Formats: sequence, C-alpha cells, structure tokens
Amino acid sequence: MPAKKKTENEVAEKKELVIEEPVKAEVKESAEKETAVKKSAAKKPAAKKPAAKKPAAKKTTKKPAEPIVEEPAAEAVPVPEPEAPALPEPRRSVAFIGSECYPFVKTGGLGDVMYALPKALIKQNCDVKVILPRYKCIPWKYQEKMIYRGDFMMDLCADGRSFYVGIMEYVWDGVVYDFIDNEEFFSAGNPYINLIDDIPKYCFFAKAALAALNYMNWIPDIIHCHDWQAGLVPVYLHTLFEGTPVSSAKTIITIHNLRFQGIYNIPTIRYWSGLPDYVFNKDALKQGYEDANMFKGGLTYANMITTVSGTYAGEIQTPFYGEGLDAHLRYHSGKLRGIVNGIDTDMWDSSKDEKLAAPYSKADVIEKKKANKKALQEELGLEVDESKFVIGLISRLTDQKGLDLVNSIIPQLIDGNTQFIVLGTGDGRYEDSFRYYEGAYKGSVCSNIMYDEGRAHKIYAASDALLVPSLFEPCGLTQLIAMRYGTVPIVRETGGLKDTVAPYNMFTNEGNGFTFDRYENGLLLDAINRAKTLYFTEREYWDQMVIRDMEKDVSWENSAKQYRDLYLELKP
Ligand code: ADP
Repeated sequence: MPAKKKTENEVAEKKELVIEEPVKAEVKESAEKETAVKKSAAKKPAAKKPAAKKPAAKKTTKKPAEPIVEEPAAEAVPVPEPEAPALPEPRRSVAFIGSECYPFVKTGGLGDVMYALPKALIKQNCDVKVILPRYKCIPWKYQEKMIYRGDFMMDLCADGRSFYVGIMEYVWDGVVYDFIDNEEFFSAGNPYINLIDDIPKYCFFAKAALAALNYMNWIPDIIHCHDWQAGLVPVYLHTLFEGTPVSSAKTIITIHNLRFQGIYNIPTIRYWSGLPDYVFNKDALKQGYEDANMFKGGLTYANMITTVSGTYAGEIQTPFYGEGLDAHLRYHSGKLRGIVNGIDTDMWDSSKDEKLAAPYSKADVIEKKKANKKALQEELGLEVDESKFVIGLISRLTDQKGLDLVNSIIPQLIDGNTQFIVLGTGDGRYEDSFRYYEGAYKGSVCSNIMYDEGRAHKIYAASDALLVPSLFEPCGLTQLIAMRYGTVPIVRETGGLKDTVAPYNMFTNEGNGFTFDRYENGLLLDAINRAKTLYFTEREYWDQMVIRDMEKDVSWENSAKQYRDLYLELKP
C-alpha cells in the first residue's frame, strides 16, 4: 500500500516547494482550523445554507495574488460590450468533481468535458467551481499560477489516519479551479497508475473535495461528479458528511465511461474510505461476494445519474453494454438521463487554428483542406498527393475503439488511392500492429504512436474522413471535432456515435457521415467503400457533406441548457 503517514515537518517542507514564505506562519493556524473542521464534521447539526456562495475571503497575510488570467486576455483593450444576451434566471452554483481537466491533465474525453462544460454553464448563469487533484504532472506554467487557498488535516481511513489537504486555486475564464494538494497521493507521473494506488487516491480525493467545500464555506446547490474517481462523493455526502453544511447540496453523477468502475476487495475500500459498514451492502457498494465498487456506490447515492448520450443511457441497461451494472442501472433508470456532449468551438475553430498549415472556414474548406493535406503528408513522410483519400484515426488504442476491425481490413483499405493516418497510444498489441502496417505500406500508412494535441489538430484538418468504429462509445468527441473540421466521420452506430452522425442518404443527399451497425469488419469496410465511392465519383455531393458537417451544431450550448434544467429540477 502506498501512503505512508507524513510527519508535520515533512508536510511543511513539501509546502515550501510551492508556497512562498508567509505560509509557514499559517501551518499552526491550519492545525487549529483542522481541529475546527473535524469538530464541525463530527458534531455540527445540519447548518442552514450559508448566505455567502462566493469563495470565502482569504484569511492570510500572504502578499496579494497576481491576477491569473491566461495569456490572450492580458492585452485586451476594453471594447464596448455588444449587447450581452440576458442570462437565464435563477442563478445556480455547481461544484464539478472529477479526475482530469484540459489543459491541466487530460487522457481522454472526460478532460475535454471538464474543461468545456463549465465554460458553457457560465453562459447559463451558473457559478462553477471545478475540483481536481493537484497531480505533479500538471505543467509548471499552471502550477506556478496557483494561489494557496488554505489547508487542513482530514481523517480518512478506518483507523483514523489523517492526511494533509491543501487547496490551491486557479481562476481562468470565469471558472474557479480548486486543486486538492497532497504529495503522497498525487505525485506520480500520470493520473492513473494501477488500482492498488488509485483506490486509496480517489477515496482521499472524494472525501477531501467535500471537506474542502466545507472548509472554504462554498456550499453549492449542485455537486456534479464525474466517473468512478468521484464515485464516493455522493456516498460520503449521505454518510460521514450528513449534517455538515455541504450536505445541503444535491448530487449528479455522470457516466463518461462505464467500463472503469473502481472495483477492489471490500476490506481495502472499507479501510481507505473509512465509510460505515452499512454502505457495503449489495444495493450500494458491494459487488459479487467480496468486492466493493466505488462507481456503483455513487450511482446508488446520487440524486441523479446522467450519461453522455441518449443511446448509451439505453445501452448500459443491457447486459452487453452494462459492464455488470445493467441490472443496477435498470433499477435506478428513473433517475438516469442521457445528455450528449458538445465540443468547445473556440478551441476547435479551424479558421483560427494556429496549428494548421492553412486555417480555413467553410467558405474555403475545399481548397484549404488540400493545402493541409499536402503539408501533413510531407511532415509525416507520406506520398504527397492531394488527390489521395486520407482517412484519420485519433484514439486511445484499446479494444473499446474497434481497432480489431480496423486491423483486419487495412490490407483491403490501402488500394493505391487511399492513405491512413493513426494517432494514439495504448495497448501494445495495437501499437505494434499499426507500426507493422506503417512498415508494410510505406508512404500510404503512418502510425503516430504518441499523444500529441498539435498533431491531432493537423490530422483532423488534413483528413477527408475520420474512422470511429467503436465497440461501444458513450459519446465520442472525435467525430464531433471531425465534423467541425469538415472531415466526414465513418462510425459504428453505437452510443453517442449513433446520436451525432446521421448516415448519408444517397437518395436525398442528406446526412453527415457513413455508418454501419453490427460489429463486423466486412461492414466497416463496406462503409469505407461507400465513402470512397462518393468521394471519387460524386465529389460535388461529398463537398456538400463537408460543408453540412461544418455547419452542424456540435457546440455545448444545447447540452449546457439541458444540464441547467436538470440542476433546476433538483434545486428548484
Ligand atoms: P475517450 O474519452 O474514450 O478517449 P473521446 O472521443 O471522448 O474518447 O475523446 C478523445 C479525446 O482525446 C479527443 O479530444 C481526441 O482528440 C483526444 N485524443 C485521443 N487520442 C489522442 C492522441 N493520441 N493525441 C492527441 N489527442 C488525442
């Protein structure tokens, strides 16, 4: 087991690495506060909702913090505001709790959502705070701008071991990010390591996030939890935090991917979480005979469950997609909704994308795509030829993503007129097979076995089509980004792929992409061939689809409205 209890000196020493001088004086003060926090958690009767929802005033004598605004805003000259649309009333406050968030740390779509949805919610008159772990891997350019917001000690384990909880704050674009600081739990290079380390880490994180809200006296209307890493939040709220100020909040838990659930044996989770025995029953955390499931507990105790598309909301109630929780989800289906994800259209804006050789809008997409294609072909060592049909694939390389199908058809795909570009990392078997195909089809296949945001932008812009043949796909963002960039998606009809990509109808000339239903390589190849046929024989219709895709609303606006409605349903 990892965490070894730190002495107070160690804690103070570590703090010195990131916090300036005056903080040392606060160590004692924080120890006093800690006692107060513990007492209030243990004894306080249910407090009325505090009047103040704004962040608690700083009690320290630290020198005033410099404004932390991201670069582009720094030199903005005040321009008379155009009439801002009136914000919908009433205002609601929301705390997002999750394990990753772009640009601090991102391994997949969850990171995108944690970044983009809060921003969209601000436009829906929501006051949003995002609570994240302060991983050591967060780039220094963000770490150095964080402001110390306070610290306290918190009981965690069943035997009362207590741990340091620091709060570091960063405000950006109207969203407040509070990072939970603890070097024992968050010092690894990656957010996720292995379950033996991750289980204690996210027990700590869930409890510390709630304790931090109490500590900051920022009591939101809604606590919005994301995936299993925040699964224990609703459980804690209804057990150990019952009667503390934060317990007045309602909880929503969003399933971004049901495959990962945080399952481990009961004694380990009971020890690390310090949760009472009664939550380890089959209706809540208990799974099978000896395991506890952190996500399952969260689904039980949350006031509302959402997932990231309507189709996935239905699919996960079936054994094939339910990952062992289908019966549990059917039981809770009354509080389960599907709200499809969007993308941040400022971040994904091909007309202002500096990473591209030739930024473009829908007015010049057809011409500029060729320029982007040639630039990328040159950069990647592919045959430079704008007439080739270029297919991209940007993905975590796991069996979820339909890569077995892709691997089995590459020889038929490469026909002299087609190029294939992969970007991704993950399972060794997929990394190796894509490397193999790059060697076997030099000049036509390029495998970028890496995680690279810049290259992703270039591939979205340079490709004619993007492949997303997933076995299951809760929502999927790559097909949305592709459409935004005028790249036609070829997808399997599952989850969010089904909800966001309308199949091309050759009779009415409608639709956004090419789709297939059953998980079969022949059907994938058929969908690709239908795409190629349109591309090579009826380019005019292909080009119309490119423009139609760029015009499609894939923004967060609609979905943010639906989340807001949900918040109001829970807290009228
Ligand atoms: P998931 O969350 O299952 O990984 P999504 O489609 O929801 O899949 O989100 C994937 C996100 O990660 C997209 O923003 C995509 O561009 C990005 N992405 C995936 N792999 C890479 C990579 N190797 N390099 C850069 N970005 C990547």
